[in-house]
Amino acid sequence: MDAPLQIFPATEENRALVENVHPSEWINPEPANCYNLVVIGAGTAGLVCAAGAASLGAKVALIERHLLGGDCLNYGCVPSKGIIRSARAVADARRGDEFGFSCGEEVSADFAAAMRRMRRLRAGLSPHDSARRFRDELGVDVFFGTGSFTGTDTIAVEGKSLRFKRAALCTGARAAAPPFPGIEEAGYLTNETVFSLTELPRRIAVIGSGPIGCEMAQTFARLGSRVTILERGGHILPREDRDAADIVMGAFIRDGVQLALETKTLSVISRGDDKIITVEQGGKGSEIAVDEILVGVGRAPNVEGLGLEAAGIDYDRQFGVRVDDRLQTSNPRVFAAGDICFPYKFTHTADALARIVIANALFMGRGRSSALVVPWCTYTDPEIAHVGLYEREAGEGGVAVTTITVPMGEVDRAVLDGESEGFARVHLKKGSDRIVGATIVARHAGEMINEITLAMTAGLGLSAIGRTIHPYPTQAEALRKLADAYNRTRLTPLVRKILSAWLTWQRR
Ligand SMILES: Cc1cc2nc3c(=O)[nH]c(=O)nc-3n(C[C@H](O)[C@H](O)[C@H](O)COP(=O)(O)OP(=O)(O)OC[C@H]3O[C@@H](n4cnc5c(N)ncnc54)[C@H](O)[C@@H]3O)c2cc1C
Repeated sequence: MDAPLQIFPATEENRALVENVHPSEWINPEPANCYNLVVIGAGTAGLVCAAGAASLGAKVALIERHLLGGDCLNYGCVPSKGIIRSARAVADARRGDEFGFSCGEEVSADFAAAMRRMRRLRAGLSPHDSARRFRDELGVDVFFGTGSFTGTDTIAVEGKSLRFKRAALCTGARAAAPPFPGIEEAGYLTNETVFSLTELPRRIAVIGSGPIGCEMAQTFARLGSRVTILERGGHILPREDRDAADIVMGAFIRDGVQLALETKTLSVISRGDDKIITVEQGGKGSEIAVDEILVGVGRAPNVEGLGLEAAGIDYDRQFGVRVDDRLQTSNPRVFAAGDICFPYKFTHTADALARIVIANALFMGRGRSSALVVPWCTYTDPEIAHVGLYEREAGEGGVAVTTITVPMGEVDRAVLDGESEGFARVHLKKGSDRIVGATIVARHAGEMINEITLAMTAGLGLSAIGRTIHPYPTQAEALRKLADAYNRTRLTPLVRKILSAWLTWQRR
């Protein structure tokens, strides 16, 4: 097995984390004769597959080459949301005048302390994903090492051969390699290294303005870095509605993030301690000098070294392992879940897919990934959350929609909280109250989208949200206001005339 793992910096919290998710003294068990399920990769998808199957009585092996918990716990959601919270606190403190308090001199962030807090909280969450919990409480055989298929029903790990009735491929994805000449030599950060920083980079360039780039750009700016986003397109968060992304862009500008849009990154070199990025904007070349470069130009599926050919599993280097709607690969014994096979790369989708795999692989279930209603949220400030179709997608798919938008400025609680920027928007199938999609831009959009997702999942129309009493004042009242606005659209001149006639008759 490889040398004992370390996560940098080598602090007490990181040692505690590693002791949970890749214990130094771990001895791989002797394999059972045959497993009901062998899971390769122990990120969210793998852990949920293993825990769920084992708790239903299956004999399960779980193979992880690095850290249990995968990206989410170690290099993704958990550390990013940890430091985002610190950055939000700093941003709020800077608004002291508005809220009637003073922090004295200019508010300055303590980056090292924010990172320490994140490391402490991450370590605190890690027992849930720990090797000992999976072995001792759930009865899973946990193997550390690289798993690789040696046949259609066998996997090798650390010189041991595991035979299986079913296998789940959950090897996730990693930051795609940046295609800019010179960047490898100059050095750059990805999500696997950025959370190991202990000192604030004075100047940082973020290449790519997808969700990860945007979350980190605003966070580093709020914590004191001079941040420049380099984006090829004309606006950030290209997947989101333009007006939604524009609101976040406005917030970025207030936070001091420099936006270099329609900017092509050409090459990178080191000059002294600086990294010099050559860019082209509007046909003109220029240079940007920074201390660090964070790259967020997409995710590449972990398909290499898995022996997929030996197991007869089809895959694509860009899109990952090919699965059908039931998440079965071209090898009928092998299923897949999470970032390795799904276009929506989130922890909650990895979890949802893993549950489908357990049912379909072990119990002849008929779960379909296309039936999932998938929400997501980008945790900028304000947040952008979305579920279902965008208006443009509805148009492309020939679904006629009615779109209703309520500005957060019309929601009392948002005004009182000083969080009135943003909107709640819903797309309804024309002529009905059936919700086909929604976007929310609001400070707590990620919390608010759940109500819409529930309605869509349960087949409830917007009218059901309108009938639901929402405590006053809450920001989620924006959703009830959407329903009120929908009800007003039903008050046609004819209905109005009938009601008026009825009321006139009552006054006789
Ligand atoms: C910075 C960042 C922030 C994010 N924030 C959010 C968020 O707020 N909300 C959200 O929903 N999602 C977020 N995500 C996405 C989320 O982290 C992923 O979608 C999720 O972790 C996918 O889980 P997974 O199990 O498919 O893969 P992973 O978590 O990548 O796990 C795959 C595991 O497989 C292991 N592995 C690979 N190959 C082998 C092999 N051959 N043998 C053994 N083991 C192997 C890897 O070491 C890894 O541990 C974020 C991602 C990043 C990078």
